[in-house]
Amino acid sequence: MTKRSGHSKNCEQAGKPPCACRCGGAEHGWQEALAIAAASSERELVRFEREADQAWKPPERGRTGQRRNWPQTSAGQQAAIKIFIAGVIRWLRRDPNLREATEQLGEPFRISRDIDPDNPRRRPTAEEEERFVEGHVIPGLRKKFGDQRINDFQKEAGKAHFWCELLAQTAHALDEFRGQYNRAKKAVVAALTGNGGQHPDGWALLLPYQDVIERAVELVFKHLPRVATGGISVEGAFRLIWPARVLAVLMCREPRRHRAVREYCVKPIVNYGTAQIKEDVKKRLRLAFDWPESPTSYDDADEVA
Ligand SMILES: [Zn+2]
Ligand SMILES: [Zn+2]
Repeated sequence: MTKRSGHSKNCEQAGKPPCACRCGGAEHGWQEALAIAAASSERELVRFEREADQAWKPPERGRTGQRRNWPQTSAGQQAAIKIFIAGVIRWLRRDPNLREATEQLGEPFRISRDIDPDNPRRRPTAEEEERFVEGHVIPGLRKKFGDQRINDFQKEAGKAHFWCELLAQTAHALDEFRGQYNRAKKAVVAALTGNGGQHPDGWALLLPYQDVIERAVELVFKHLPRVATGGISVEGAFRLIWPARVLAVLMCREPRRHRAVREYCVKPIVNYGTAQIKEDVKKRLRLAFDWPESPTSYDDADEVA
């Protein structure tokens, strides 16, 4: 696994929510999940599955409400999501193309840098620095709006699930407006800056940052075609619907409190035959979130390219 600098290990491993980090959640959890998927042995994934499985049990003690309402409690919902994430990691293990696409899609969201293994202490050259800012959303925002404003923004962004919301809305808009790139982009801006819709808690504190939000969407949509096809055409970006769903799910620190991630990412993955999410995992999600039995299935021809 490549060594990185400039990002907290705890956030990378998504140890415990909530997590306050300079990345504002944009680098939360997903790199560790991708590393587990890419590892030569299954050991870490099996450990992850075992932990998730053990978390799925009604509490023996504690407040009666937590026992009576289980699994529709924070612990029950978290356990259901964790075993689902294990299923997503298994899917990424089976499908290296999807794993790679997800990793490439995650790249522009990074604030961390790869460490040069031959010379770990080497400082980036001015040219490397410029390329990093060019290729990454948050450094791009810092360049335009200054460190102070982006530091303030990132504090609220982390609490309000900004980056996973952006990804979930992007996946949704790419799916809604297939082939119409600019309409999809506008729909994401509208979803993130509008008063309507059900945003995560704390979202109101992001609304004074409308210019930052618009720029963030602009930058993400600038990077998508490059990620998908090396920038040959914007059409390629529509291939990133599944990687965007996967990345949002892995990035989100608490999908149980994040409606867009559940509706636009968790549910489509659960219903997507190719993902092979197991029946008992689906059942746990249904019980924990009170979902109805067997919604419509996604077309398997809808593959990631
Ligand atoms: Zn972080
Ligand atoms: Zn989230």
